[in-house]
Amino acid sequence: MVDLVLRARRVVTADGERPAAVAVAGGRIAAIEAYDAELPAAEDLDLGGLALLPGLVDTHVHVNEPGRTEWEGFDTATRAAAAGGVTTLVDMPLNSLPPTVDAAALRVKRDAAAGQCHVDVGFWGGVVPGNAGELPALHRDGVFGFKAFLADSGVPEFPPVGADGLRAAMERVDALFVVHAEDPGYLRPAPSSARYPDFLASRPPDAERAAVATAIDAAGATGARVHILHLSAADALPLIEAARAGGVRVTAETCPHYLTLDARHVPAGATEFKCCPPIRDAANAERLWGALAGGTIDCVVSDHSPCTPDLKRQDTGDFAAAWGGIASLQIGLPVMWSAAAARGHGLADVVTWMARRPADLVGLPGKGRIAAGADADLVAFDPDGTFVVHPGDLLHRNPITPYAGRLLHGVVVATWLGGRRVTGDRPAGRLLARADAGAPG
Ligand SMILES: [Zn+2]
Repeated sequence: MVDLVLRARRVVTADGERPAAVAVAGGRIAAIEAYDAELPAAEDLDLGGLALLPGLVDTHVHVNEPGRTEWEGFDTATRAAAAGGVTTLVDMPLNSLPPTVDAAALRVKRDAAAGQCHVDVGFWGGVVPGNAGELPALHRDGVFGFKAFLADSGVPEFPPVGADGLRAAMERVDALFVVHAEDPGYLRPAPSSARYPDFLASRPPDAERAAVATAIDAAGATGARVHILHLSAADALPLIEAARAGGVRVTAETCPHYLTLDARHVPAGATEFKCCPPIRDAANAERLWGALAGGTIDCVVSDHSPCTPDLKRQDTGDFAAAWGGIASLQIGLPVMWSAAAARGHGLADVVTWMARRPADLVGLPGKGRIAAGADADLVAFDPDGTFVVHPGDLLHRNPITPYAGRLLHGVVVATWLGGRRVTGDRPAGRLLARADAGAPG
């Protein structure tokens, strides 16, 4: 007798898509059987023609609580995540106060999140000038790795480290380093303007290329693992390919907005499209799709980074003054499915990019896949359903989105976390620590 059986004609398992019955016991996937297998269960649900996917793993989310909870918080962000089929997220170390740059700050963050999360939540630590001595304890307490900036982060309490600082941190602790790769030497001050091209010109592709080279050099010199966050500039792809061929441990991610939005179609004053690095043109996006299909880009994550409407300068539309961050955690899956399907990709590809590989990146082998023994984090998804994005339907705290008005394909019908349907009534998300961490202090 198992707790739950979910049957579907399109179950996206680790070995491809097929009709199957997924049996759940004790929060985990107990077995994957034939679609019509006899399985005594407390609850047996036939999803028919819907697809059953593993819950997505979004390793790049800015929750901002505590300290900037008016921008976003654990309750709202994790409700939005569950509604969008994301069952695990990893929170970035900055924009919250304090930033997660030492073990005490991690405790503050965990205390703030406890009891509020509707999906499972883990944490990144941060590298800032002067905190190298804090990194071993922070790592021992369970962060999944360390984020570093090479250019201004947008908030004063999380300053950038230079190439030397990044290298020193890599030498201090054996961990995964995730890098916001823009080199300040190539960035120019953006003029006050409601024209998107004025902002775009201030952050050229060379800024990313130079910073990716710096990150790769640091990893190559120290043997550390480095992950390039939110890659936008396709010009940096050959550097990643060459480094990998040379044995450097480097991975990369991009985001739905870099793959699906076009700089030439950003309306004047539409600051909901502002993020750093910036959205570039459609030809650049095509090259990113090629790199995703070819494996140079490993993952697709949201970089959900909301703020309040006043800081987004929704009143003046000034791209220079507006907060840089795209907020669309809840609709990443349909945004990606709409565009991926149009290019001939299948659901298994989207699941690889948005679930399995992000889980592997942070060392969570029980997440991001439908396989016996994995966590029963599951999503019923209607690949043929369509909807139009209305910001008012989004559950994150400040429902601002560049996808407003878009017709998207793919509807999340239901989400299960550890075998229990996420309804929003009772936050059952757990706080995750890296598999080889010590007990949180
Ligand atoms: Zn980010």
